[in-house]
Amino acid sequence: TEKIRVGIVGYGNLGRGVENSIAQQPDMELAGVFSRRDPESVETLFVATAVFGLESIHDFNDRIDVLVLCGGSKEDLPVQTPELAANFTLVDSFDTHAKIPEHFAAVDASAKAGNTTAIISTGWDPGLFSLNRLFGEAIIPTGETYTFWGRGLSQGHSDALRRIPGVAGAVQYTIPSEEAIDRVRAGERPELTTREKHTRECYVVLEDGADADSVREAIVTMPDYFEPYDTTVNFISADELARDHSGMPHGGFVIRSGESSDGVAQTIEYQLSLESNPEFTSSVLVAYARAAARLTASGEHGAKTPFDIAPGLLSPKSPEQLRAELL
Ligand code: NDP
Repeated sequence: TEKIRVGIVGYGNLGRGVENSIAQQPDMELAGVFSRRDPESVETLFVATAVFGLESIHDFNDRIDVLVLCGGSKEDLPVQTPELAANFTLVDSFDTHAKIPEHFAAVDASAKAGNTTAIISTGWDPGLFSLNRLFGEAIIPTGETYTFWGRGLSQGHSDALRRIPGVAGAVQYTIPSEEAIDRVRAGERPELTTREKHTRECYVVLEDGADADSVREAIVTMPDYFEPYDTTVNFISADELARDHSGMPHGGFVIRSGESSDGVAQTIEYQLSLESNPEFTSSVLVAYARAAARLTASGEHGAKTPFDIAPGLLSPKSPEQLRAELL
């Protein structure tokens, strides 16, 4: 059988992660990276990887089976996913939860008109966590679902810190409350406030002459981002920031706590502990890219989410092999 030919659109953290993951797949090969930047300026992980300008992607209509979209959810994917779905089967990791319905509708119209298949919002949240929320609810209808994130680096909150005057560099970690998790695991089914579920930990490098107290005040009072949480602010040097905080760890828990009949407690827990959020997210995207290529070959067109994808389609193994080995 022929290998699935994959194109990467956008080359940032996820783009690199997808390049890395494709090299580990027995049934996939990389057709190239497509970037809005000058291809000459894009340095890939592997020398053999070809980089092209995104504007030339339509020369590849017949040479690519599936695109993995690695653009940002805020500015890139709302435009790129519907546009490219007109001609290519694809997957994305769109993670603006509130806008998923409108993104789905735009992509669905485009993919149906183009007879392509587009799996949106893969990754871990949305993605694997969404599936586990669904399993919990469907299997134990009487109960509560809890999602905790972290300990992990939040890109959005780190960006918010960097925009504060006087801040030269910063990262923010989201930390789930151990106490809250213990109460959920114990079957208490507590009603938890925002403040009780997560705390936020900031590591900040000050600009020369900046006042630490006023920067701390600006952080802990920032509406939505930090004000609703217990936030700690640590001031560190630029060297410490580079040495101790350049990784992108993340993870979390989805816990369903309920009962199947009166007094019969049932708990389902799914945990991720990730040294690299982007490398993991990319690995999920690649597994869904395989599913997208298979679905389009069988004529199932339009937009899909992880809820619509049979798990066996993610695996390079045949259905027979899966039944024999994993069932
Ligand atoms: P990046 O900021 O690293 O990359 C986004 C885009 O920016 C790239 O596609 C690239 O486009 C451009 N870019 C990257 N590096 C540079 C550079 N040096 N100079 C100029 N442009 C650059 O984002 P990530 O890869 O970290 O994440 C992408 C999205 O993935 C996030 O917005 C997030 O929403 C989503 N995500 C989803 C998860 C989930 O679980 N569902 C988990 C993690 C992330 P181009 O090559 O065309 O210039």
